[in-house]
Amino acid sequence: MADLAAATPAWDYAARLTEVRARIHTTEYTSGRAASHVQLLVATKAWDADAAVAAVRAGAVLVGESRMQELEVKGAALRAAGARIHVIGQLQRNKAATAIEFADCVQTVDSLALAERLSRLCAEAEKNLDVMIQVNVSGEDSKAGVAPREALRLASAAQALPFLTVTGFMTIGLNSPDEEAVRAGYARLAALRDEALIRSERGEIDLREAWELSMGMSNDLEWAIAEGATIVRVGTAVMGHRTR
Ligand SMILES: *Cc1c(COP(=O)(O)O)cnc(C)c1O
Repeated sequence: MADLAAATPAWDYAARLTEVRARIHTTEYTSGRAASHVQLLVATKAWDADAAVAAVRAGAVLVGESRMQELEVKGAALRAAGARIHVIGQLQRNKAATAIEFADCVQTVDSLALAERLSRLCAEAEKNLDVMIQVNVSGEDSKAGVAPREALRLASAAQALPFLTVTGFMTIGLNSPDEEAVRAGYARLAALRDEALIRSERGEIDLREAWELSMGMSNDLEWAIAEGATIVRVGTAVMGHRTR
């Protein structure tokens, strides 16, 4: 884990949070969206508990963690500081219990087996869990997530499981400077979400709570917001650059 925490005073997190919020608000305005509808998730993965908690004290409300080994160490402190925690990394089956213990939402559900496991663990823990379906919109082999054509079927199957609520869809965008190509992927996720809501309205499926779109990171949050993101996941623009 990075050890820049001591070099990053709390006011730095506050200043960077202000900068990122300004980017979000500007883009909401310029893309004709209602103000203050996009939530900022701060990706605290790979930063130690002190740094992550400092970011929360500076005003980060929603944080994202990728590795459950880290969440085991940081989870209690983050929750004590008042953070809501989303899992944003691929969840290994043997680590699902850690997610249930600390997280409010697992954004990276990409198989029915994982959804079933989460549902069973929720039953044991007597907890409800929000989940999002991770979709591979770019089709790159290296990216996790279900294919777009599988997404609604998986979402419906997950929603049918006890203790789980499917709250939306998540994707990791194409890592490219090509605005058109990146935005096409985000538009695809938004179209899936729209289809889920429209078909739910018609009574064909039951995904009426699946309206969140988690997409966009430090470098491309403007493009994601213009395509309808409701949650942007921002690491370096708030936490700083990792030195190792
Ligand atoms: C780390 C991470 C982010 C944040 O990336 P930055 O480029 O540092 O903003 C967003 N989403 C996921 C899934 C991540 O793992």
